[in-house]
Amino acid sequence: MSDLYARHRAVLPDWLALYYEDPIEITHGEGRHVWDADGRRYLDFFGGILTTMTAHALPEVTKAVSEQAGRIIHSSTLYLNRPMVELAERIAQVSGIPDARVFFTTSGTEANDTALLLATAHRRSNAILALRNSYHGRSFSTVGITGNRGWSPTSLSPLQTLYVHGGVRTRGPFADLDDDAFVAACTDDLRDLLGHTRPPAALIAEPVQGVGGFTSGPDGLLGAFREILREHGVLWISDEVQTGWGRTGDHFWGWQAHGQNGPPDMLTFAKGVGNGMSIGGVVARAEIMNCLDANSISTFGGTQLTMAAGLANLAYLLEHDLQGNARRVGGLLIERLRAVAAQLPGVREVRGRGLMIGVEMAVPGTDRADPRAAAAVLEAARADGLLIGKGGGHDTSALRIAPPLSLTVAEAEEGAAILERALRSAQ
Ligand code: PMP
Repeated sequence: MSDLYARHRAVLPDWLALYYEDPIEITHGEGRHVWDADGRRYLDFFGGILTTMTAHALPEVTKAVSEQAGRIIHSSTLYLNRPMVELAERIAQVSGIPDARVFFTTSGTEANDTALLLATAHRRSNAILALRNSYHGRSFSTVGITGNRGWSPTSLSPLQTLYVHGGVRTRGPFADLDDDAFVAACTDDLRDLLGHTRPPAALIAEPVQGVGGFTSGPDGLLGAFREILREHGVLWISDEVQTGWGRTGDHFWGWQAHGQNGPPDMLTFAKGVGNGMSIGGVVARAEIMNCLDANSISTFGGTQLTMAAGLANLAYLLEHDLQGNARRVGGLLIERLRAVAAQLPGVREVRGRGLMIGVEMAVPGTDRADPRAAAAVLEAARADGLLIGKGGGHDTSALRIAPPLSLTVAEAEEGAAILERALRSAQ
């Protein structure tokens, strides 16, 4: 055990679980690569969903942050804040939500917490619908709407949460139904639930479940839910913390894969939008955002520093069409991995779109989740110079691939070759 790891273990919570038997200390990065404290270089196929939406140490963002840090970081709420107004304008414009208002927080958890505050205040109900296997954050309210039991450490929620089917297709009563039958089963489930309860305030859903293993229902499912929700006066919150900003390639927001019944009433965002600077937020129709009858502020939400990063990062993303890049390069990567998977009985499926790709590991010859194989692939890839993520529901049996959105074709090929070796070694 390294000295730093021993010190980590001695002073930080036990449940702050690190990746790898011998955890890595990352010291610097550039583009799609990072280096560890021993000088080893890794291709980063996971940092894109965590912190780094565009590229590590992107000069445009570094410059904007250092200039702003040298100028002023002051209250984001008591005085006019130009970068906050500008970023809110851009996000409102790209959100697809009419008459949009934006509130900035410092994390995805706090963004969802705010969305819950707004939904419950607006609808005067503390009941929330969420998907099974969901992940929405780590605060008291958001663990209460997190269906993924491994990430929901208390049942003492201030909310009444009702879970519906819709995110997972590889297990459960609806496993292996075709798209139409799956949508019909899930909408029946929702209708049945709503017919037997007082109207909840909102449904919150990740268009593609992130921590849950990059898994989703068929396109159109959330749109079909939307029709039913409308009949009951229930709001729709799209948690875009992982799916936003073009990551899925085909769409700028994950909800757009779900048809003509959008946009949602609210969407939440966070993670890489500040390329490592802590930005989260909620976009809501004005009528919903303005329903609070007392002030609500966030001291660090919307600081000039984080907003400067967000503005530079978003400008880079749009100017370089990184959504299109995610579609093209992600499409190649998915094709390549599917071809490998077809030869390996331990890979149950390669799913996802754009640069949000899940690889589900199963015990060969069965449908049983294989977390041991997933862990082995993670270790083997690391040893070969590639960082990937893992996730899943009751079992952590999915590999998660989410590089920065500027990934090149050559890097995709290099990563795919390493992954192929790692997958073969785990068979
Ligand atoms: N929602 C989703 C879909 C997430 O994946 C996460 C983070 N994994 C969150 C919310 C919480 O974001 P944060 O960690 O910034 O609080």
